[in-house]
Amino acid sequence: MSPKLDEYDRKRDFERTAEPSGRTASSDSGRLYVIHKHAASRLHYDLRLEHDGVLMSWAVPKGPSLDTRERRLAVHVEDPPLDYGAFEGVIPEGEYGGGTVMVWDRGTWSPHGDVVEAMAAGKLVFDLEGDKLTGRFALIHTGARKGGRERNQWLLIKEKDDLVRPSAEYVVTEELPDSAATGRTMDEIASEEEPDVPFEKGT
Ligand code: MN
Repeated sequence: MSPKLDEYDRKRDFERTAEPSGRTASSDSGRLYVIHKHAASRLHYDLRLEHDGVLMSWAVPKGPSLDTRERRLAVHVEDPPLDYGAFEGVIPEGEYGGGTVMVWDRGTWSPHGDVVEAMAAGKLVFDLEGDKLTGRFALIHTGARKGGRERNQWLLIKEKDDLVRPSAEYVVTEELPDSAATGRTMDEIASEEEPDVPFEKGT
C-alpha cells in the first residue's frame, strides 16, 4: 500500500464501507477528473484530479461555479485512490463521510504547467473536459499565511473563457443536479436503486 493513501485508509473501516481500498495506479488518460456530490453531515462537492496515481482532492461546500466572480472555498483533503473516482453509492451512517455519494461530473483535466510546482506555489490553473464542466479553472491557496487550521484552504475560481456563465442566469449545480455516470438523483442513489445503464469505472 502506498504511503500516499495512509490517511485515506486510516479514516475508513473497509469491513463497513463499500468505498474502494485501492492502490495507486493510473487511468488510461492519466488525467482523470471527477466531482463527487456528497451528502455527508453537510452537502458538498469533492473535486478530484488524478496526479501521480492518486486523486488530489478538495471539498467544495458550495460546489463549482461558472461565474468568474464566485470564489468558492475549497478545502484540500486527503488523496483517495484512483478507483475512488468510480465510486457512487452510500457510505454507512457513522462511518467517515457517512452519506450518499454521486459521480456528479467526470472526464479529464489538463494542468497548465508542472503540477508539483503549481501546488507548491499555491496556484494550479487547469482545463476541464467533463460532461458538465469544461473550460479553464484555477485553485488558489489562501491558507498559507494564516497558518494553523486554515492551512488547507484554497479557492476554486472559474477563469475567463468562452464558457463563463453569470450566476444570475445559470447555476450549473442546480441546472444539472444528477449523476454523470448513471443519471440517478441523490434520492435514487440513497435508496440503492439499480442504475439503468451499467456503471463503468473511470471515465
Ligand atoms: Mn466528501
